[in-house]
Amino acid sequence: MPQALLLHGQAGIGKFDFAIHLAQSLLCEADLLSAGTKPCKQCEACRWFETGNHPDLIALVPQTYRKKLPHAALEGLEKSSEMLGDEEPESPKLEAESADIATEPKEKKQSGFIRMEQSLAAIQSMGIGSHRGGYRVLLIYPLELLRVEAANALLKSLEEPNPKTLFILVADRLDRVMPTIRSRCQLIAMPRPMREEALIWLQAQLEGQKNLKLGPHEIENALDEQGGAPLAARDFILAKRSDNDKDPLILATAATPILLEALSKGRDIPWLECAEKIHKAPYSSLLNTMQRWLSDIQTAAQAKQQRYYPRHAKQIDALAAQANLIQLMRLWKQLIEARRHENHPLSTRIQLESLLTQYQQIFEA
Ligand SMILES: [Zn+2]
Repeated sequence: MPQALLLHGQAGIGKFDFAIHLAQSLLCEADLLSAGTKPCKQCEACRWFETGNHPDLIALVPQTYRKKLPHAALEGLEKSSEMLGDEEPESPKLEAESADIATEPKEKKQSGFIRMEQSLAAIQSMGIGSHRGGYRVLLIYPLELLRVEAANALLKSLEEPNPKTLFILVADRLDRVMPTIRSRCQLIAMPRPMREEALIWLQAQLEGQKNLKLGPHEIENALDEQGGAPLAARDFILAKRSDNDKDPLILATAATPILLEALSKGRDIPWLECAEKIHKAPYSSLLNTMQRWLSDIQTAAQAKQQRYYPRHAKQIDALAAQANLIQLMRLWKQLIEARRHENHPLSTRIQLESLLTQYQQIFEA
C-alpha cells in the first residue's frame, strides 16, 4: 500500500463509498487465514468503525457531504473532536445569531468547504501514530475543497511520511487538486459504470423505497441527466420525494426542471423570472445543469446524440440549428470561470441573471 491514494473520477459514481469500504478493510483485524473477505464486519475494529468510533479513522468532509458517511460514523463525527466537518446547515436562526459576530458570517456561508482549523488539527494528528497498531487512515473528500493552508499542511505530511499512515484522498475534479499534492499520491482513476449496469443497480436501490412510484423512463432520465453517475441519480430521485426544503440537494432537484424549461425556450428565455425562482438552489448545481445543456446543444450542432438530456432532444436540435456557436463557447468559458467561485458566489441571483442573458444572446439573430 502506498502512503497516499488519490481516487478521482466523476461525481456520483461511488468513489466515497469505495473509499469508506477500503478504509474499513484496512482497519479490519480479522484473521486473514480464517476469514473470507475484509472487512469482516464482526471483529472489534469493524464494530468500532461502523459505530463511528474507530480511533484510527479520521474523516475530513464538509458538512454538506457528511450524510455520505455511514449513519453511525456520523454520530461519531459529532462526538469526537478528531472527526471533523463543517458548520451546521444554515438556518434563519443561525444567521441571526451569527450576525452578531462581525467576523463570522462570511465563514458560515461557506458550508461547502472543509474548515481550516479542523483540517489542520486532523492532518497534524496523523503524526501521532496508530492507536491499535495497524494503519492510521485519513480520508478526505472532496480533496479539491481543502483550503490552501490545509492543503499545504497535507503536502508537508505527505513529504514526511510516517510508516503505517495512509491518506485516502478523493476528488471529483482532479484538475483542481494542487499538482504538488497530486505528484505525491498514487492516482487511481475510478471509472463510470456501464449504462446497463448502472440501471440494474439503480432499480435494485430504489425497489425497497416506500411510496416511490416511478414513471417508465424516470430512472433512465435521471441517470442521463446525472451524466451516467448512478449514485447521483439515486440521490436525485430520492430528493424529489423528500420534503426537507432546506436540503441543498432538494433545492437543486426542484430548481433543475425550472431551469431546463427556461433554457429550452432559447431566445425567449424568461431569464428574470427564472433567476428569481431558482437562485436559492446551490449555485454549483445550477452551473452544472447549464454546462450540460450547452454541451448537449454543442453535440447536437455536430449532429451527434445528446448525452445528458435525450428526452429534450427535439428542443435541443431546434436550438442547435439557431445557435451562434461562438457565443456559445463564450458562455461556456464564463461557466467554467463561474465554477471556480461556485462555493462562495457574491450574489447568485445577479450572476445567474447575467449568465442567462448571455444564454439568450446565443440565439439572437
Ligand atoms: Zn473486521
